[in-house]
Amino acid sequence: MSSTKLFNKIALIGIGLIGSSIAHAVRKNGLAASVSVGDIRQDHCDKALELGCCDQAGTNLALAVKDADLVVLCVPIGANAEVAEKIAAHLKPGAIVSDVGSVKQAVVRDVGPLLPEGVHLVPGHPIAGTEFSGPEAGFAELFQGRWCILTPPSGTDEEATAKVAALWRGMGSMIEIMDPSHHDMVLAITSHLPHLIAYTIVGTASNLEESLKGEVIRYSASGFRDFTRIAASDPIMWRDVFLNNRDAVLEMLQRFSEDLTALQRAIRWGEGQALEDLFTRTRAIRRGIIEAKQDS
Ligand code: NAP
Repeated sequence: MSSTKLFNKIALIGIGLIGSSIAHAVRKNGLAASVSVGDIRQDHCDKALELGCCDQAGTNLALAVKDADLVVLCVPIGANAEVAEKIAAHLKPGAIVSDVGSVKQAVVRDVGPLLPEGVHLVPGHPIAGTEFSGPEAGFAELFQGRWCILTPPSGTDEEATAKVAALWRGMGSMIEIMDPSHHDMVLAITSHLPHLIAYTIVGTASNLEESLKGEVIRYSASGFRDFTRIAASDPIMWRDVFLNNRDAVLEMLQRFSEDLTALQRAIRWGEGQALEDLFTRTRAIRRGIIEAKQDS
């Protein structure tokens, strides 16, 4: 192994948007001597090899993780347990298993108990993505300047956590360490609820589409267009997010419904000042996000 590489072999299970972006970024930044890929789909493996972002790819997950120092699960959250069952017996002693899933208590629950003694679990979540899926959607700069949240369960080997953090830093990310349940609550409001709202609005518009005879699409103003981009996100991934972060999403949804009812009342009773106050407050949040360089 080259002494300058962070890992000798990294295995990526699932070579979609996130998996292929990691593969490209690892290659570009020289973070591992070799990258191997395991995916349920042979055509995705073939595409990864064609794109040149890995050294080996195939549907045999046991082969993909053989001798790997780090295995990163990049599959929908609902597939983590099935993947862990397939790879557990083939992991190298002392290997690190990480993931990129958008919900963190679920991976600790589903994957943790299946790993052999001496294998370290360091769950992670890059706060970066697009609405596109599959190996061709990935690119090396996806994680540049974005946060990656690591949620090691208490008692996790500190060196293993430090190595996973170094990988993400090497791909351009900033690191935050969080408790898994806190992560799930924060992401419920910053990501999961906004997706639920987008799916709802676009769904409502699509139900109206027939009676409005195409006008929703023809005259879609930027507000609706922005929602359609979010609502174009991968259906399987988002099904799994809501099923696996049920409590936190329902809690945020309850608060949102109460605030929506208050707005409904303000509109009904012509309380312009209440509307103006809220819209002024929310504008400041947008400025804060731009100042934090999390959007342009
Ligand atoms: P994706 O583009 O759909 O890629 C997932 C890949 O895993 C696909 O090739 C998929 O094949 C494969 N796969 C599914 N089940 C599998 C199994 N049982 N064994 C092996 N491979 C399997 O998804 P993604 O957007 O990269 O998302 C992957 C993970 O990243 C999710 O857990 C998600 O929560 C997380 N994440 C996503 C984003 C985002 O913006 N997309 C951001 C942050 C984190 P099929 O195409 O046949 O399903």
